[in-house]
Amino acid sequence: MAGALPSHARVVVIGGGIAGCSVAYHLTKLGWRDVLLLERRDISCGTTWHAAGLVGQLRATHNLTRLATYGADLYERLEAETGQATGFRRPGSVSVARTAERMHELKRLASMARCFGVEVDVITPGEAGRRWPLMRTDDLVGALWLPRDGRTNPIDTTLALAKGARQGGASLLENTPVTAIRVSQGRVAGVSTPAGEVACEVVVDCAGMWAREVGRMAGVTVPLHASEHFYMVTEPLAGVTPDLPVLRDTDGYIYVREEVGGLLMGGFEPVAKPWGMAGIPADFAFSLLPEDWEHFHVLMEQAVLRIPALESAPVRRHVNGPESFTPDGRYLLGEAPECRNFFVAAGFNSIGIASGAGAGKAVAEWIVGGEPPMDLWDVDIRRMAPFQGNPRYLYERTKEMVGAAYAVHWPFQQPVTGRGLRRSVLYDRLAARGACFGVVMGWERANWYATPGLEPSYRYSYGRQNWFPCAAAEHRAVREAVGLFDQSSFCKLRLEGPDALAVLQRLCANDVDVPPGRIVYTSMLNERGGIEADLTVTRLAAEVFLLVTATAAATHDADWIRRHLGDARAVLTDVTSGEAVLGVMGPRSRALLARLTDADLSSEAFPFLTSRQIGLASAPVRAARITYVGELGWELYVPTEFAAGVYDALVAAGEDLGLRHAGYHAMDSLRVEKAYRSWGHDLGGEDTPLEAGLEFAVQLGKKMPFLGREALLAQREEPLRRRLVIFVLDDPEPLLYHDEPIWRDGALVGRITSGAYGHTIGRALGLGYVEHADGVTDEFVETGRWEVEIACERTPARAQFAPPYDAKSLRVRS
Ligand SMILES: Cc1cc2nc3c(=O)[nH]c(=O)nc-3n(C[C@H](O)[C@H](O)[C@H](O)COP(=O)(O)OP(=O)(O)OC[C@H]3O[C@@H](n4cnc5c(N)ncnc54)[C@H](O)[C@@H]3O)c2cc1C
Repeated sequence: MAGALPSHARVVVIGGGIAGCSVAYHLTKLGWRDVLLLERRDISCGTTWHAAGLVGQLRATHNLTRLATYGADLYERLEAETGQATGFRRPGSVSVARTAERMHELKRLASMARCFGVEVDVITPGEAGRRWPLMRTDDLVGALWLPRDGRTNPIDTTLALAKGARQGGASLLENTPVTAIRVSQGRVAGVSTPAGEVACEVVVDCAGMWAREVGRMAGVTVPLHASEHFYMVTEPLAGVTPDLPVLRDTDGYIYVREEVGGLLMGGFEPVAKPWGMAGIPADFAFSLLPEDWEHFHVLMEQAVLRIPALESAPVRRHVNGPESFTPDGRYLLGEAPECRNFFVAAGFNSIGIASGAGAGKAVAEWIVGGEPPMDLWDVDIRRMAPFQGNPRYLYERTKEMVGAAYAVHWPFQQPVTGRGLRRSVLYDRLAARGACFGVVMGWERANWYATPGLEPSYRYSYGRQNWFPCAAAEHRAVREAVGLFDQSSFCKLRLEGPDALAVLQRLCANDVDVPPGRIVYTSMLNERGGIEADLTVTRLAAEVFLLVTATAAATHDADWIRRHLGDARAVLTDVTSGEAVLGVMGPRSRALLARLTDADLSSEAFPFLTSRQIGLASAPVRAARITYVGELGWELYVPTEFAAGVYDALVAAGEDLGLRHAGYHAMDSLRVEKAYRSWGHDLGGEDTPLEAGLEFAVQLGKKMPFLGREALLAQREEPLRRRLVIFVLDDPEPLLYHDEPIWRDGALVGRITSGAYGHTIGRALGLGYVEHADGVTDEFVETGRWEVEIACERTPARAQFAPPYDAKSLRVRS
């Protein structure tokens, strides 16, 4: 319906697919009436109309599952609320496993899902066959049964959301494309359409596979790319009834459901066909792409193997529709770092129907509340780097990401496309030493070093992978001698100017008004006291600070600081590329560095948490005495052009001291033994420093009040009902990764946020939040019988607050 275009709206939602309609619906639910949705053609005409309509609840992570579960609940009641039928039903779903490893993954997911009330049962192949009689089961290992999984009609569900939005006061205009976005002083000011201009305060880019182009209108990077995506529908088949559950055979890349008495079969082939490289045609509406049976054959072959009746089933319809995929297979949500009040909800990787409701709610709450309403880091658009908007990169990565949806999600799995883009200057040297690289934000980082005779490539498994002994040896070298880490991908930000100190004092929970040369470990908090950033701040001079944060947090943390700069006289510059970072860590690190410098490295002259400019191997180096591995050590910040020389000198001088190259897997093992927290895992916007056990890095009484202080003061008045606890498994065999449920005296009380095998302790260790209404006290932790659930089996564990290794940090300060 095309109506009169208003000259002003508080929010303009661009795109009338399920995402846009959901955002508009949820904004009105929050009381915002002045909401305008602009759709270039017709509601649902992009990708939404031809979706298969599966509404699965089990997602790769805890928070994504939370959003998907909300969606199913909303679709169930939407018809009663709006009067528009949705076609939503809950026939349940059966997910089968062909291999033991897949079954292990399914059981891990089942354990995670139970943490927040998703009904799920582990069933035998025989039981799976009884629920799905047309399926062959003799080659199966097992299956999951999710009785509450649903399916819906995508068009009707979108129309119901649209109707609900209108009933709530929003205007939805069709045949009104947005052709430009006006940005003034870094924030959204309005949009242009052929029918005129609309001034607005907020724009939400829900333009599906067009979202990258729409982002560009405001200078925003929206990294997604369309891909062809297929299913077919058969004529009615004997034995197919409407109550047939949805079937997922992910080892065969396929899903199947009932459709008008026949079967709808689609899937996620391992090598996909990206589409729309030259842009999406302007007239693309309710359109499909040409059939490609040759390509579809990969899915068909597997489908016939699972459901022999498909071999002779007449095909009624073949659907090849484009859908957008992102570089890591997760959708893009939230306010873009490049432009204030420009929000994104796009790139749904073929789960937009299942996730559209939750995503729309989350974005609406983010807009209205000014902050993410929950920990949305898994999908936060700020997890991306600007280079990821590059069309060639996206094209290559998209070939891989379609299949990744149904591939086993191995621990530590690395993508194979779009590699080698960001390399430290030491890359070739490390490769020659046997480095096996992983990738974070495009940076190639040495995760482990292959010992002689071993190939530096991953052999994935849920058990101990091929690199386990290599990482163990690296770990031991750091504990007993000295290890060399290339940490060049660290994000380095320089804040300088007359107001730099004031800005940081307002943002940091710790006191950064320290003499030049001091390093301060601190968090930056939101109003609720949640941890938005976890970093070190080094005062280089009165008005100059170096901020060092995790590689993955680069865009996010820079955005957090920039949005709080206001009109302060301070400039933030990302200087990451200017300096390589070499971590020299271990009890012999002092002896090693002493061979290359005249600087006094004694604890008296160079104490822990200080940073000094020194000459090292004839290079100007800023040495920072700090550690993430719990040993004596220095991070060396070396101008990029000097880095190779410094590295060569370290390697030559370290040989007889037992110097060993060490990678990020060893670092992870070392840091969990010291219970060092990791932002994005153990720390996030929903965790306060008090809950996280980081009160030692908070100065509630410092002169300038800081953001989040009031929330912490209030929290301090009450018993802490949620706290980070460290778990050490009794059994040395099982491994922990993340999201494993935590049990105390038979009751579910939390989940693991990060886990790793501690090679010194000789057990898997996990950090995780535990909740208890009366407070998580020392006594509560000491008296409980603790267990961690791994793949549906509970294993006993010891719980404690103190780090399992060197609790008094004597080694760090030695
Ligand atoms: C074959 C296939 C099967 C699928 N099956 C499932 C499934 O079973 N379950 C599931 O959850 N998901 C499924 N999906 C994925 C799902 O369809 C998508 O994730 C979802 O529809 C995306 O919704 P959207 O609102 O982001 O995008 P779209 O539906 O594409 O909506 C974007 C809208 O923006 C409009 N637009 C673009 N540019 C402009 C502009 N400049 N101005 C105004 N409007 C503009 C477009 O016209 C379009 O209507 C499937 C997808 C495919 C292709």
